Amino acid sequence: MAVDPSYAGHAAGARAQGGSSSVLDVLVVGAGPTGLTAAGDLARAGRSVAVLDRRPDRSRRSRAFATTASTLELLDARGLAEDLLARGVPARELDLGLRGGPLRLPPLASAFAFALVVPQAEVDAALDRSARAHGAAVHRGVEVVDLAQDDGLVVVTTRPTSGEGPPTTWRARYVVGADGARSTVRRLVGVPFPGRTVLSSMVLADVRLTGGPPPERLTVRTTTDGFAFLVAYHREEGAGWYRAITWDRRREVPLEVPLADAEVVDRLRSARPDVGVAEVGWRSRFSSDERQVGAYRVGRVLLAGDAAHVHSPMGGQGMNTGVQDAAGLAWKIDAVLGGAPDAVLDTHGSERHPVGRRVLRRSGLMARGLTTGSPALRALRDAVLPVVLRLPPARDRVVGGFAGTTSRYPRGRGEARLVGTRATAVPLVEGSLTAVLRTTPGFVLVEPRDVAAPGPAVAPLMRVRRTDRGPALLVRPDGYVAWAGTRGQAPDGWRAVLAWWTGTEVDGRRVGPRGRARTPRADTRSPSDDRGSRGLGVGVPARDARAQEARRRAGP
Ligand SMILES: Cc1cc2nc3c(=O)[nH]c(=O)nc-3n(C[C@H](O)[C@H](O)[C@H](O)COP(=O)(O)OP(=O)(O)OC[C@H]3O[C@@H](n4cnc5c(N)ncnc54)[C@H](O)[C@@H]3O)c2cc1C
Repeated sequence: MAVDPSYAGHAAGARAQGGSSSVLDVLVVGAGPTGLTAAGDLARAGRSVAVLDRRPDRSRRSRAFATTASTLELLDARGLAEDLLARGVPARELDLGLRGGPLRLPPLASAFAFALVVPQAEVDAALDRSARAHGAAVHRGVEVVDLAQDDGLVVVTTRPTSGEGPPTTWRARYVVGADGARSTVRRLVGVPFPGRTVLSSMVLADVRLTGGPPPERLTVRTTTDGFAFLVAYHREEGAGWYRAITWDRRREVPLEVPLADAEVVDRLRSARPDVGVAEVGWRSRFSSDERQVGAYRVGRVLLAGDAAHVHSPMGGQGMNTGVQDAAGLAWKIDAVLGGAPDAVLDTHGSERHPVGRRVLRRSGLMARGLTTGSPALRALRDAVLPVVLRLPPARDRVVGGFAGTTSRYPRGRGEARLVGTRATAVPLVEGSLTAVLRTTPGFVLVEPRDVAAPGPAVAPLMRVRRTDRGPALLVRPDGYVAWAGTRGQAPDGWRAVLAWWTGTEVDGRRVGPRGRARTPRADTRSPSDDRGSRGLGVGVPARDARAQEARRRAGP
């Protein structure tokens, strides 16, 4: 798509209307958890960022309810976990109503070995505050209606959601399409969203129960006709508010059919007669689709979150996967803007597409397992599950998959086995990796414990030392291992890997146009090599000055 030259004229008028006449580094479409995470990280890195959302205010709807271990690590690395931990309920048990009783969640390779039950609205609010504090400009009541791009620029047209006022144009080096399941950005760049509806007419409600299950326990009950899921929003034993999700094959009605309190109560009682519903709060019918895009990138436009994948809410994966997409993407955009090879952005798709596919498979399997009407399959499920979930390797694999702690990215040929795994649980002489990233986002060199003393921190690199017998690691800003110094690897092999991801040597020299290290598998729909114009994006000292300049440019 070519940029219409007349856009320059539109842009001149845009300033007065609150648009951006200058070129932003990144324009994020969608102020949900995905967009706000991306915007916060990019603004924190000193990039000029604006976020556009068609809703006039932040959604107060209680959608996702659980924040998983790997997302908590990510929030901790941004200084946002502590407050949410104080507000939420750590769920550590799963009760499927099977023989053997509730299953205690196994120790996870994380400081957060639980799912934190906290309404999505609170996670969104924390990310919103953080993004603004770092200098991202969040514009609400602004709907994206058109998009064009060429080799150097993306031009986005918006109009006020209220319908009052002229269109505005925005120009940016990159656009993040984080505008949810019905993404306009995805449509405008022509990316199909193949898949199908798997469950229609589920009911989601916040209910106050007089006899609900204990807090800290995720409870699921199945019947021949459906299931009910309950989890507490409160920490005290006894009465309180719960999130309920129910599905009943006998009540598959169009989403527009009004949902009365009595139906919510009736659905819950058919699965759990003993819970005692005292009050029904927010409630909604929704259908659940399984869809995923084939390409996460079209030129300068990158898709993330629900815009790239949707699936059943079973296992509470939607918000978590979106936040992780964004955290993985933001540092790469920053690096490419700072001079890293364009191919770094292709790794957004090659890394996150397989993760999204696994999430679809995992949550789909769970949804089908819970909703099967076949007596034979139900009997098999009820006989096999309690056994499998008590076998440590199978249990750890299932729970680690939902928690995101076993998530890994593909590694290149000849790379150490640890490359692409998460490094957040590596024990350090001082503090934790998330604490290091909280104060100094960027690459971290984890040195082995037998090294006399860690070398000095040279931007863009932090150096820390591990306490166990593990090898040296180069850890990316998103907590994944980029290089591991296992036997047979050159001890300073990390230098070439760092140079590839950032476009800059540790001594400040720029690498050649294609970088020096491996080129990870690429998305097929990428433009040719493109290099940014500014300095290294992951450098520490440059950040503050850049942040000030970025705030100025991101507009109101
Ligand atoms: C009813 C319901 C229940 C759910 N329950 C769960 C659950 O229990 N567990 C779980 O993990 N997940 C659940 N989810 C999914 C979870 O809420 C999403 O995965 C998560 O919100 C995705 O975040 P996002 O930022 O990618 O997209 P969204 O949160 O959808 O944010 C996208 C934003 O883009 C904006 N936007 C859209 N189009 C435009 C445009 N043209 N211009 C400007 N802005 C635009 C929207 O206003 C919106 O604010 C549920 C979703 C729904 C709808």
